[in-house]
Amino acid sequence: MKTLDDKTIAAIRSHVESKKVTLGDGTVVPQLGQGTWFMGENPRVKEQEIQALQLGIELGMTLIDTAEMYGEGGAELLVGEAIKGLRDNVFLVSKVYPHNSGLSSIAHACEQSLQHLGTDRLDLYLLHWRGGIPLEETINGMEQLKKEGKILRWGVSNLDTADMEELVSAPQGKNCVTNQVLYHLGSRGIEFDLLPWQREQNMPIMAYCPLAQGGTLRKQIMTNSTINEIAKAHHVKPLQIALAWALRTNDVIAIPKAVQQEHVIENATAASIQLTQVDLDKLDQVFPKPRKKTHLDIV
Ligand code: NDP
Repeated sequence: MKTLDDKTIAAIRSHVESKKVTLGDGTVVPQLGQGTWFMGENPRVKEQEIQALQLGIELGMTLIDTAEMYGEGGAELLVGEAIKGLRDNVFLVSKVYPHNSGLSSIAHACEQSLQHLGTDRLDLYLLHWRGGIPLEETINGMEQLKKEGKILRWGVSNLDTADMEELVSAPQGKNCVTNQVLYHLGSRGIEFDLLPWQREQNMPIMAYCPLAQGGTLRKQIMTNSTINEIAKAHHVKPLQIALAWALRTNDVIAIPKAVQQEHVIENATAASIQLTQVDLDKLDQVFPKPRKKTHLDIV
């Protein structure tokens, strides 16, 4: 296992910490966090996963995204172990299944998540995707959890523009602080309308799959000659360029998931990459912006 010296850790962390995003309610959070999908499912890699999250925290990636769905509580339990003694250093995000997002079920689901995570509050609770329960009912449930101090704020995930418009026009719907959606260099559909609409609302996007695990074009991102050239010029790897691209503005949070230590370090290091306008223009040519409305990418 590679060990980083204190000076290197401090240097990487200072770049990560320099990148912040302001949520819809004014809360400032790290722009670069960590995902946890598929963690907590295999006991043989449990220690490696815990160490990866802890290294990520040490490197400044203190926003951690999880969900009751991941490993059916397994990922939350793992995160709970990883953040033991570190709770106050972390901005903790979890998600409720749509079928648990009704008034009678959300309190229980949240309580379960809190127990798994070994904490008394979530910093952010998201509706994982829209299901059959009316958005108004979920909003009421979220607001009730806020009143009880179980969650500090709430948001949604996988909602496209029409759903978001409906959400914010419901009573207290404007209290939604973010929408977590699939977004990466190869999946830019949200730039057509959802991203500009959220910008108007001062509601940042939380980009999942920023390393293109889902959506399209991961292979192209890794093999494309332009991105390889840009990576070479910055002395980094193509996926680090993809991550730096996701971080190019100050209103998109990115939550890459990494278990391999090398990946955690590469991801944190992406915060120090300064893409030039020329780099961005070249990337636009190879991975163009959308010219028309497309369905929201999901995994
Ligand atoms: P990512 O795009 O983050 O990719 C994760 C994959 O990339 C893993 O296989 C990981 O490998 C690998 N990887 C990580 N860093 C590097 C690197 N530097 N170089 C090469 N490979 C790397 O995909 P995810 O689907 O995990 O998305 C991120 C997070 O977003 C999830 O973990 C989850 O928290 C959230 N999410 C939310 C969804 C939603 O519906 N709201 C849907 C999907 C994800 P390894 O682990 O072996 O290091």
